[in-house]
Amino acid sequence: MKPEGFATLRAGEKEANKKIVKVGDCEVDLEEVVRDLRGVEDIATDIIKEMGERRVKQWKPKLNILAHASDIAEWDSVLLNRYHPLYTSIPSTPTIMEESNQAKLSLQDTCKGLFKQLTFARDLLDFAIKSFGRNREIDMGSSITYPTMNTSLLTGFYTKNLDDMDRALSYAEAQLLELLLAAYFGAETVVEFEEKALHAGALTFLVMEIAETIKMCCFEFFNAGNHPATEYSDSPPVEIEVGMGAVDRTRPVIVFFGNNFLPAWFAVEHVKAKGLEDAIEICGVGAVGHDIPRFYKGGKVLTSAVKARKVTRAGIPDVVVASETCLEFDLVAEAKRVDAKVVAYGYKAGSGLEDRSDDSVDDILKNVMENDLPGVRITIPEKAGELAVKLAIAIKQKGNRKENYLLSELKEEASRCNSCDVCVDVCPNKQTISKAMDDVSALADIYDNCIFCGECERACPEGVPIMDLIMSAAATTGKLKGDKYLMRAGRGPMSELEWRDLTFGIILGGNGPGMINIIGCGNYPGSEREVAEMARYFLERNALVTVSGCVAADVAKYFDENGFLFEQYIAAGVLKGLVNFGGCTAISHVPAAIYRGALVGSGYTPKANWTQIADYLYARLPVVTIMWGAATEEMYAVAAGLVRSGIPVVIGPSGFKFKRYFLGDKDDRSKWWMYDGVTGEKKEVEPCPMHMLVPVDTKEEAIAMSAKLLHRPLALRDPRLASLEAENEAYKNFFGEYSDDWHLYVRSEQELHVMRRAELLRKLRQEHGWEIEGMKIKRARHRSGELMDMQEYNKRYGIQLGRYSTLVPRLITRKDNNDT
Ligand code: SF4
Ligand code: SF4
Repeated sequence: MKPEGFATLRAGEKEANKKIVKVGDCEVDLEEVVRDLRGVEDIATDIIKEMGERRVKQWKPKLNILAHASDIAEWDSVLLNRYHPLYTSIPSTPTIMEESNQAKLSLQDTCKGLFKQLTFARDLLDFAIKSFGRNREIDMGSSITYPTMNTSLLTGFYTKNLDDMDRALSYAEAQLLELLLAAYFGAETVVEFEEKALHAGALTFLVMEIAETIKMCCFEFFNAGNHPATEYSDSPPVEIEVGMGAVDRTRPVIVFFGNNFLPAWFAVEHVKAKGLEDAIEICGVGAVGHDIPRFYKGGKVLTSAVKARKVTRAGIPDVVVASETCLEFDLVAEAKRVDAKVVAYGYKAGSGLEDRSDDSVDDILKNVMENDLPGVRITIPEKAGELAVKLAIAIKQKGNRKENYLLSELKEEASRCNSCDVCVDVCPNKQTISKAMDDVSALADIYDNCIFCGECERACPEGVPIMDLIMSAAATTGKLKGDKYLMRAGRGPMSELEWRDLTFGIILGGNGPGMINIIGCGNYPGSEREVAEMARYFLERNALVTVSGCVAADVAKYFDENGFLFEQYIAAGVLKGLVNFGGCTAISHVPAAIYRGALVGSGYTPKANWTQIADYLYARLPVVTIMWGAATEEMYAVAAGLVRSGIPVVIGPSGFKFKRYFLGDKDDRSKWWMYDGVTGEKKEVEPCPMHMLVPVDTKEEAIAMSAKLLHRPLALRDPRLASLEAENEAYKNFFGEYSDDWHLYVRSEQELHVMRRAELLRKLRQEHGWEIEGMKIKRARHRSGELMDMQEYNKRYGIQLGRYSTLVPRLITRKDNNDT
């Protein structure tokens, strides 16, 4: 008897079992569209019908439903060929490793980033399914027509309910296993490892998007999709307090650390149910810090994850609640120093505390207070939230908690300092600690430059409590109280309507240079100021600036005579808009917003067609991401995902710590080409975007490089002018001279800003051998060295403005359907 499931594999029978979908007068054989149709026929049918007759006639459709890494190799090879991966040797690795080994490590790091986000998303999804059922609808609000775009681009379907989310997340889990096998046991080429790393990056966005969507659709996180566009300019309002000075320490204070917001959500539910809103402080650090204000406007963001220890050293919390987290210190020991109690939430946060999940909240409370336990571990978020509230109130009522160390008491300990300067040697910011021992204001100055990493205390042979001294000096001089700012809470997705407006500003015309996304977690002295200054620089030049993750709190700290930065710029996704997407998972709105750009500009729906969407974005949309601060595995994964979407990433400061880059070579003319999408002719184009993942050291370099990376070969005239002016202004301002290649982006004198047109035309003549007549370019020097009139130059160099073009041979329109 033949096995039934394999019947369709038999020769002859295959023809009879053809899966044909009719679209208009076209018939599409799904077996030719999808590599393996089994189990995904329904998805493929939907997509082909949605695509419509015209598209089906234009290109041979190819769908990567529930894509594996190699399914998208078509696009990855375009990228990796143009931007060959470059590796810097890894610190602590004594020998230069061969390239494929470095690529393997790169894949391992990206997988770790994906895995960290995945474990959180899985916990959240399982909890949501248990609480709301599999049929719980995913409704993104009336302003968002197309939900979960990161997900649909890889899977081919939108997640309409939690069951769909489960299917998508299970796909990501299976993919991770496949990638891990290669990452730890594979012997592959550099390109094969990097294709997989790009895939892990893309999956990271899917996973973050699932978590983010559950937050908005099940836990009432602020979601712009629920608001009409008329409200976007000031929505949500600038009312969220940021900084340690914002905390009223006469009230019970709970501080949440880590990635998981569930205990905080239930704490807030309890607070609201008991009418305690004005009687208790609910604060957060890092990812959860940015989540809380999206469902509770009384929530306060204290600092970024990398500076978390600052909060306990300041003695701010009565109770700390920690979920699985990026903390790199012993939270229980730190809490003990200031008599705070710890509630460790979840199965992954051990910390050596007793698991009391089976006991009643009141029993645990009594036990902790009467026996002065350091804390407990709880795996049920409702219980963790309620316990945190009750514990904080009880601790405050008891009233004998040790507050900050008093500077006078610490002086005696400081006297042990023997000026060996071991602490200075290990300090990442080289603070002259020993010299400040007797000087309160010098210690307070160190506070400004201290990230509370603890290296100095660990290394001190005399056991001087250096961080306590620094913190006490900050409290004594009023610095702690002064650490108080305002921001907007995260708003969630950008709508299609906003992209429609943005299209006029940065694609069709207008004077906006593009969209700048700043993400990351500042981990060095002055990082807040630098992040804010980068944002302000681009805002003043008409860009749309978005922030996500901890950098939103950094930007919040910027103020001048006109107020806080968030007060000075509108919250809408338009030119001169400053959008806070939200905490870490909200980074998934960056590519999703840009996929909406593809949707609005081209009509391509992002569904199982990665190559087509990325090809469109890469060559047209002036979008850059600045990744600032800690080079964590999550950031590694996020960078890979953005690059695969066609979005260049600038990484800094000290970007060399990132270990792997995708750099283009502007001088290698063989790399810079596109196909005329109608005739199929291969044409040389401008070398842009010049890099896809590039390190910088300073904020000035980041600004100038970001401006340069806004160039796109298919940009229309006004956007070309805007991006060239952004680059020229930045280079001139920061480095005193223009870049050595700005002339490669000029195709008409009208693309030179009127204020510097005469100067640049003179440079074209004197330095590049172009023929100039008055204020007009008469003949241009082609990269081949030939001098030619502008008509010929534009024919030979670059794509005609407005012409459909592509980097992928498959996407050249079919000869008989070239009506685009
Ligand atoms: S805790 Fe502060 S002073 Fe000490 S090593 Fe770290 S940054 Fe330097
Ligand atoms: S390591 Fe300790 S003893 Fe040495 S200079 Fe620093 S504080 Fe003083």
